[in-house]
Formats: sequence, structure tokens, C-alpha cells
Amino acid sequence: MQDLWVATGNQGKMNEFRMLFNRAPLVLHAQSELPVFSPRPENGETFEANARIKARTLRSVCDRNWVIGEDSGLVVDGLAGLPGVHSARYAGPKAADSENVAKLLKMMQLRAVPTRKARFVSVIVCVAPGGVERTFAGELEGEIAKAARGQAGFGYDCVFVPTGETQTLSELGLAWKNRVSHRARAVDGLLRALLPEMTASPTT
Ligand code: IMP
Repeated sequence: MQDLWVATGNQGKMNEFRMLFNRAPLVLHAQSELPVFSPRPENGETFEANARIKARTLRSVCDRNWVIGEDSGLVVDGLAGLPGVHSARYAGPKAADSENVAKLLKMMQLRAVPTRKARFVSVIVCVAPGGVERTFAGELEGEIAKAARGQAGFGYDCVFVPTGETQTLSELGLAWKNRVSHRARAVDGLLRALLPEMTASPTT
């Protein structure tokens, strides 16, 4: 088995990564397993820049291991791409998911947006033990619902209706989400490109 360190402190994301990498002979480790770890501020202007900051920061303390950093968010057409890279902190630096969702619904109403079209974006930067970095991205298109519905998932799942569906991701459930999500697509790309290399020299 090969170890893979994941640079995230988000439990919802980590759960999804565990399910998405389940089919590969990889042992996932979260940054929370490290006794001391201080993430750097995500001050990049793009998902890729932030994913790279996360991956490099974790790699600096887990040298010689495979590391991934992922940055993701919700891009809403009627809000000129917001909340975008600010998705986790849309309603403030320590905002809860419910506060971010409430702000999103309020902004959509205040601006009387002509379209509710939106997409989730996930960008993963994977750093190999030797330091080579590769980037993988995935998107999921949909629309913002008028009110939150459903319990499953995290973040904006309860207000995101994928194209062709009538239910939100929270109503459709994690098994459904993990077949098509932005994160699933980015992980698919990574596994297709890198799994042979990753498992060529097992660490555990
Ligand atoms: P990050 O940890 O800076 O990448 O923050 C990503 C934020 O975007 C999360 O805190 C959520 O608010 C939102 N987000 C990203 N991916 C998802 C998803 O799959 N479902 C719901 N919200 C998401």
C-alpha cells in the first residue's frame, strides 16, 4: 500500500476523499494526524494557487511522501463568479456552512440575479515524493435552489441542484454525489494519470 497525505482540515472533504480513493491501494492520511501542523493562509487568487499552497505547506513537513492539496468552491454566474475561492469564508473568516448558505441565498435575492446557474470546481495539486507537481481539475454544473433542502454532505450541497436533477446534492446523497462530483472528476484524473507511479514503490 502507498501512503497519501491530504492537505485539508475540512472533515466533509476528507470523508469524500476516503470514499473516492477507496478503489485504489492507497492509505489516506489527514493533516490532523500530525502532532504539530499550521496551515498557511490561502491567499491565492485561483483555486490552483490555493491548492498549491496547501500541498506545498503539508509537503514541507511530510517530505518523501505523496501529498495532495485541494481547493474547491462554488462559482455562481449571477454573482460574477462569487463566492469562488472565498467559498469557505463567504460570510466571514470563521463562518459556519449554514451562514455561508444564508448569505448566498440573500445575495441572490438582493441582486435579483437573472440566472441561477452555478458550478462547483475542484482543483487538486499532487506533489510526488521527488517534488514534481501535477494539477487535476473537475467541475459539476447546476443551479442554486431557492432554499436549502436535504441533510447529506457539507458546504453548499443543500442549495446545489445538478443539471438534469430536481433534488439538491444533499437530497441526492453522498453515493450519488461521489459518482459525478467536481471532486470525483479531479480524483479520477489523478488516479488515471498517477496510480501506476504511486504504487510502483509502496511505503507501507
Ligand atoms: P476550501 O477548503 O478552501 O477548499 O473550501 C472549500 C469551500 O467550498 C467549502 O468550505 C465549501 O463551502 C465549498 N465547497 C467545496 N466543495 C464543496 C462541495 O463538494 N460541496 C459543498 N460545498 C463545497
